[in-house]
Amino acid sequence: MTVQATLQRLSKVISRAPLALAPQRLDRFVQARHYGIGKIPQSMVDAPVERIRNVGIMAHIDAGKTTTTERMLFSAGVTRHSGDVDKGDTVMDYMEQERARGITITSAAISFPWKDHRVNFIDTPGHVDFTMEVERALRVLDGAVAVYDAVKGIQAQSVTVWRQAQRYDVPCVAFINKMDRPKASMTRTLKHMETKLNVTPLVLQLPLGVGPEFVGVVDLLDLHVTKWPGKVECTDFERYDLTQSSHEKDLLEQALVARQEMFEQLAELDEAFMEHYLSVGGEASKVEVDKAMAGVRRVAVSRSGLPVMYGTALKNRGIEPVLDSIVKYLPSPTDLQKNEVPDYAKDFCAFVFKIVHDPNRGPLVFMRVYSGEVKVGDEFYNINRHCVERAQRVILISADEYSEVSSIGAGNIAVVTGLKKAITGDTLLSKAAAGDLVSTISTAKRKGKGKEALDLAPVEKTEGSSITSLPGMRVPEPVFFCTVEVESAAHQQALDHALACLAREDPSLRVTSGEDDETILSGMGELHIEIIQDRLRKEYKCNAKLGPLQVAYRETLAAPIRHCVTKKLSHNGRNFDVKLELELSRTPGDEFRELAEKSLVELTFGKTSELHALLTGEAGAMRIAALREGMEQGARTVGPLLSFPVRCIDAKITDLDCKTWMSNELLTLAASMCFSEAMASAEIRLLEPVMHLQIVLPPNHFTTVLGDMTGPRRGVVDGIIEDDIDGNVLTAYAPLDTLRGYASHIRRQTSGLASYSMTFSHYVAVTPDVQKQVVNSMLFHGGDVL
Ligand code: GDP
Ligand code: MG
Repeated sequence: MTVQATLQRLSKVISRAPLALAPQRLDRFVQARHYGIGKIPQSMVDAPVERIRNVGIMAHIDAGKTTTTERMLFSAGVTRHSGDVDKGDTVMDYMEQERARGITITSAAISFPWKDHRVNFIDTPGHVDFTMEVERALRVLDGAVAVYDAVKGIQAQSVTVWRQAQRYDVPCVAFINKMDRPKASMTRTLKHMETKLNVTPLVLQLPLGVGPEFVGVVDLLDLHVTKWPGKVECTDFERYDLTQSSHEKDLLEQALVARQEMFEQLAELDEAFMEHYLSVGGEASKVEVDKAMAGVRRVAVSRSGLPVMYGTALKNRGIEPVLDSIVKYLPSPTDLQKNEVPDYAKDFCAFVFKIVHDPNRGPLVFMRVYSGEVKVGDEFYNINRHCVERAQRVILISADEYSEVSSIGAGNIAVVTGLKKAITGDTLLSKAAAGDLVSTISTAKRKGKGKEALDLAPVEKTEGSSITSLPGMRVPEPVFFCTVEVESAAHQQALDHALACLAREDPSLRVTSGEDDETILSGMGELHIEIIQDRLRKEYKCNAKLGPLQVAYRETLAAPIRHCVTKKLSHNGRNFDVKLELELSRTPGDEFRELAEKSLVELTFGKTSELHALLTGEAGAMRIAALREGMEQGARTVGPLLSFPVRCIDAKITDLDCKTWMSNELLTLAASMCFSEAMASAEIRLLEPVMHLQIVLPPNHFTTVLGDMTGPRRGVVDGIIEDDIDGNVLTAYAPLDTLRGYASHIRRQTSGLASYSMTFSHYVAVTPDVQKQVVNSMLFHGGDVL
C-alpha cells in the first residue's frame, strides 16, 4: 500500500471512529506505516524493562488462540489486514503445515508495541502432540492470556495447559472468546474455572448481550462502556463513561451491582485491597480505581484469582481490553523474579528456549535474556555444552520476519545467529561471568585438547564454582516410534543432517539407531511424526519413508530376582575375582507417571559388615558412585525382551567381594555386567503408555463408542457427563497401542459427530496375555500390532 493509500484509509477509519479515539488510533496506524510489517522501531527495542511484557496465549485447540493473536497484531498496527485461520493467511501460523491444517504447531514469537509497552508475544499450539512447544514457551513467559470457548467451556487441553502454567508459576488473565455464538454461556465457563481449574474467577466486565446480540462490554473498574457497533467484523469501537449516559439507567444499575460483587470478590482475594475497601466502608462508589486496579494486578501476579474478560476474536470485539490487561495486570520481567533464576547482576545470562533452522541464516537461537545484554559480535560461554560461541547477528522477531538490531537487553526475547552448539534448554553466560571456566577451555585448547573440552557431557551444576545453569524444561518422553529410511544410501547423509536439525529444534523428537543400524524416529504422536515427515520432504527435500508406527514400550521386572555372579577381571597383568550379589525388584506400584524424570535405577545396599567396610569413608563414597554408575549403564543398554529401555528397577547390592586396590572403572564394569546378567535371567514385564481421552459425542452414539472403548480398546472409564452442551462427555484411560487410527475410526462410527482429545497419562505394567500378543506381533509381524 502506498503512503497516499494508507493516509486515505486512515482518514476513513478516523472519520468513522468517535472523535475522542482519533489521536490514539491515528498514532497506532502511523506507527504501523512507519515501520511496516515486521520492522520494529528503535523506541520499542529500547523499551525500559518495566515496560516489557513477555506473554503467551494458550488454550484448547480451536478455542481461538490464533484468531485472537491475529486480531491483537492488527489492533497493535503490526499487520494491515487481519489474518484468518479459515483462509490460511495468518501471520502467526506461518509454517506451511500449519496453514494447511489450520492449527498452530511451532510457537511463533512476535513483538509489538502497545500503549508505550513492548509486548513479546508467543503463540502456543493446543494439540497434544506438541506439548513440548507449550513447555518451552511457558518456561520463558512472565504471563499468559488463557483463551476459552464460551460455548464449550473449559476443555481438556486447557486444563492440561493450565497445570503446565501453574508448574512454571505463570500469571494469567482469561479471555472468554466466541461470545457471538448462539449457545455462548458465561456461567458455564466461569463455573468450569472453579471446578476444573480450581481457581476463583474475577470478572472484570459486564457483557452487553450474549450470542449474536453481543455488542460490547462494561469495564467494571471505571464503568466505561466499549461498544463495537458494526454487524460483521469491526475495527472501530466507541468508548464512553456509563455514569454520564442519561439513557442507560438500567444498564448502569446492573453494572453497579456487578461492580459491588467484583470488589467484594477482589477484597477476598487481596488483603491490601480489603483494607482499602474496609476504609471506605465497603462503598463501591468510594473505591479508588487505581487501588482496585493494583489489587487486580496483585491477584493476577500471585495467581490467587483469574481476571476474566469477554469478546469474540472472529468479529474483532473485545480485543483492545485484553491488550490493555496485558500491560495493566500481567507482570513485567522486574516484577517477577522467578526464584530459580540465578543472579548475575549486570552480566549477560540467557536461557535458550527454541532453535529454528532457517535455510538462509542457519540455526536461529531463541533466548530469554535474564540479565545483561547480547550484542552483535559478543562471545559467551554455554554452561551446558562447555563451549564459547559468538553471536553473529542479533535479531528481533516478528513471526516469520526478522529485524536485525545491535543489541537486546535484560527481560527481552532475542534471536541470535552463529551459535553451532547451543540447543534448547541451555544457559548462556557472558565470558566475564563464566571467568575461570572460559580460561580452562582456552588452556585445554592450547594443549590440543579442544575437542574433548568442548564435548564434555552437559551438566546441571558446574562443580567447584558458583555457576549454575538455569533449570531446564521438562522434556516429555516419546510414546511412538518408527523406522525412517531413504531410497538409496546416497541420500542417507542428507537425511541424517535433516534429522539432526529437526531434533535440535524439537527435543521431544528423538533420533536413534536401531540394532541393524537403521534410523529410528521417536515422537509424541501420529500427527507429530506425520508433520516431521512432511517437513523432511518440503524443507529438506528428503523423500523419507517411514515404517509402521510402533508404541514405545518400556521393560521392567515381572517379579523380584536375586542374582550372584563372580567375574574374572584383569588389571595390569593381575587376574582377580569380583563377586557381587544383587537383588532386583520392580519399583512398587503398577502405574508410573514420570518415567523420564526418575533416575534409571534406585540403588541401596545390604547391611553386612564387609559391605560397610568397603563403602565407608572417602574411598567408600567413590565405590558407591562407581557401583551406581555401573547399574545405570546396565539399565541404559536395551532390555532383554524386546530391546526397549529398562525402567522402574530398584536394586540392592547385598554382598560385594572385591580387591580394595582395584580401580573404580573396573567396579563400574563389574556392576554393569552383573546388572545385565541378572536382567537377562529374569522374567520381564512390559510397561505400556496409557492415554487419557476426553470424547464428546451425541447421546445416540454413546453406547457404541463406550462399548468399543471398554471392549477392544481396553479402556477404563474415568467419568461420564451426560448432556453437556455438545452432547455427552466420556473420559477414559486407554493404552496407546489400541488407539492407533482412532481418529478415523470414531469419525466413521459417529458419522463425524464426535470429537476427542487425548494426552499421555502414565505407563502401566501390561497383563501376561497382552504381553504375549505384543511379543508375537513384534517378533513375527514386524511390529504392526493392529
Ligand atoms: P486455535 O486452534 O485456538 O488457534 O483456534 P483458531 O484461531 O484457529 O480458531 C478455530 C476456529 O474458531 C476457526 O474456524 C475460527 O474462525 C473460529 N473462531 C475463532 N474465534 C471465534 C469467535 O470469536 N467466534 C466464532 N464464531 N468463531 C471463532
Ligand atoms: Mg492456532
